[in-house]
Amino acid sequence: MRKHRPGPFDIPARDLVHHPGEMREFTLEVPAPEKWGEGLVSIPEGSPVRVEVRLESVHEGILASGRIETDYSGVCGRCLTDIAEPVEVEFQELFAYPEREASDFEVQDDHVDLETLVRDATVLALPFQPVCQPDCPGLDPATGERLTASTGSGQRVPLDSRWAALEQFTPDHDEDSSRA
Ligand SMILES: [Zn+2]
Repeated sequence: MRKHRPGPFDIPARDLVHHPGEMREFTLEVPAPEKWGEGLVSIPEGSPVRVEVRLESVHEGILASGRIETDYSGVCGRCLTDIAEPVEVEFQELFAYPEREASDFEVQDDHVDLETLVRDATVLALPFQPVCQPDCPGLDPATGERLTASTGSGQRVPLDSRWAALEQFTPDHDEDSSRA
């Protein structure tokens, strides 16, 4: 057996191991043990990570499903303003019993360790092109100044307004095809 160092995302599963049909629900709130993510935005070390998880004992192992809520911070990809936004992500993963086929996640004795799962799911949910607001105009190429200084993070322009303007250019296919 591997020597295990207890981790902050360990969930006790002694009651569930080899008891298919049993189920338990847990809620954790744990500070991120290190910075998560390498892009323009990331989860800072120490940032609270809330995890609601349901563990279900199944024949092959323990199925973990749930939801992660935390906040990322970093900079807008266009104007480099500091931004911080909530991120929410759902996950489902089977922690297999070690004696079965090799798997990314395994039940470890009497617990499952959600840390890698939670970290990877959270990092994947971070935007690659984060923006401070949907229509951020970026920086003035001449001066390097930010082009808008008026709106704070509280004001958002709905995406819908842009699509509404495009709709009038969309041909009506049904009408065209019915004409003889
Ligand atoms: Zn911006």
